[in-house]
Amino acid sequence: MAHSRTANRYSALSLVREGLRGHSGWQQAWRSPEPKAAYDAVIIGGGGQGLATAYYLAKNHGMTKVAVVEKGWIGGGNTGRNTSTIRSNYFYPESVALYDYSLKLYETLGKELNYNIMFSQRGVVTVAHSDAEMEIAARIVNAMQINDTDAELFSRDQVLEKAPLLNSGDQARYPIFGGVWQGRAGVARHDAVAWGYARAADGFGVDIIQDCAVTGFLIENGRCVGVETSKGEIRAGAVGIATAGNSGVVAGMAGFNLPIKSYSLQAMVSEPVKPCLDTVVLYLGTGTYLFQSDKGEIVVGGGIDRIPSYAQRGNPPVQATVLSGMLEMFPSFGQLKMLRQWAGVVDVVPDSSPIIGPSPVPGLYLNCGWGTGGFKAIPAGGVLLAHLMATGEHHDISRPFDLDRFRTGRLIDEAAGSGIAH
Ligand SMILES: Cc1cc2nc3c(=O)[nH]c(=O)nc-3n(C[C@H](O)[C@H](O)[C@H](O)COP(=O)(O)OP(=O)(O)OC[C@H]3O[C@@H](n4cnc5c(N)ncnc54)[C@H](O)[C@@H]3O)c2cc1C
Repeated sequence: MAHSRTANRYSALSLVREGLRGHSGWQQAWRSPEPKAAYDAVIIGGGGQGLATAYYLAKNHGMTKVAVVEKGWIGGGNTGRNTSTIRSNYFYPESVALYDYSLKLYETLGKELNYNIMFSQRGVVTVAHSDAEMEIAARIVNAMQINDTDAELFSRDQVLEKAPLLNSGDQARYPIFGGVWQGRAGVARHDAVAWGYARAADGFGVDIIQDCAVTGFLIENGRCVGVETSKGEIRAGAVGIATAGNSGVVAGMAGFNLPIKSYSLQAMVSEPVKPCLDTVVLYLGTGTYLFQSDKGEIVVGGGIDRIPSYAQRGNPPVQATVLSGMLEMFPSFGQLKMLRQWAGVVDVVPDSSPIIGPSPVPGLYLNCGWGTGGFKAIPAGGVLLAHLMATGEHHDISRPFDLDRFRTGRLIDEAAGSGIAH
């Protein structure tokens, strides 16, 4: 492993020594340093995207004088609140290049970080309910295959083989015609992704500074040269914004607007039950999707709330819509008790694709607009923002996602692929 401090800390010998000492001297997985006066790079936001960026700055570009500045605790934003689905079944080549690259990085991430992220490639099936939807499903499958990623057009029987408890009766409001299957897709433990990147970045010497809000920017001769924070000024050679639902607010501090609206997006879990569903199922008709966690809970998600908001709560009418979708899909889940509901604040862009690229202020770079789908993109988003911050240039994969697409009109409309219903 490249990050030797982390490797030493968890070597077999050190683990045995710790056991013999009665487990009294465990170090924290990452330090909690005070901010230094200056870094080569500062990333705002300690979610998965920000932490991954710090890790790849160190690993891919040898930049270790790096800080991640987080106003709360790492992973406390959307990264720790999402339903952890990882897939690359998008329509446009630009999107498949991005999300499939991310999926490939996920396939080896646990080993690379030496951290069990519990990545389970149990497959995702997107169910179609009419001949017209089957035609759309076939187009998606064709596009994915042309773009060199795995996808299969499933018949009704194949869907039911994967999820036998689905409502397949004649009276079903959403009849099952077939669907899109991606077998490499799956789920991972969301906190572990943040913690794994944090520990590995810390191992390279990256400072992870929690409880430290960015309140403004240091701009000199039109260039961003650092940030103002609740713990004082920090100067930086390059600054990255990875603040998800707060990106519009943070951009406002630097004096520009982003084409982002922020919405609550909620999810729920049921009480744990015995294994009954070993894939992820999404209904095109209802927008509700669900899977069973390793603990046995049914994890349920759906669309965004209808009204833009920074409230990290979610509205009851949308919960009711999502749960009614679940009952259409799996009538037997009507017996389940729902245990918890929560929400995050997601950053939705008109074409439902992320914004990765330089901002209008030189020295300041953007990683935002992931909306409802940025968990799956954490490894790729980190690589791409790190590339931009280290070189000042786009990586080939990030170029189409530049902010200038809203000026040129080269939008990447993934409203269907992203599952965001406006
Ligand atoms: C309910 C729900 C379900 C979802 N399901 C999925 C899914 O199944 N699959 C998928 O791919 N994606 C999903 N997503 C989306 C995904 O969670 C996000 O796109 C992804 O986590 C974004 O990562 P991030 O690091 O950019 O954001 P975050 O994890 O939100 O990190 C941003 C961080 O910035 C910090 N911050 C904000 N302002 C400041 C400031 N001024 N100073 C310092 N720090 C600041 C915040 O505290 C936060 O920790 C879901 C989201 C939600 C809410």
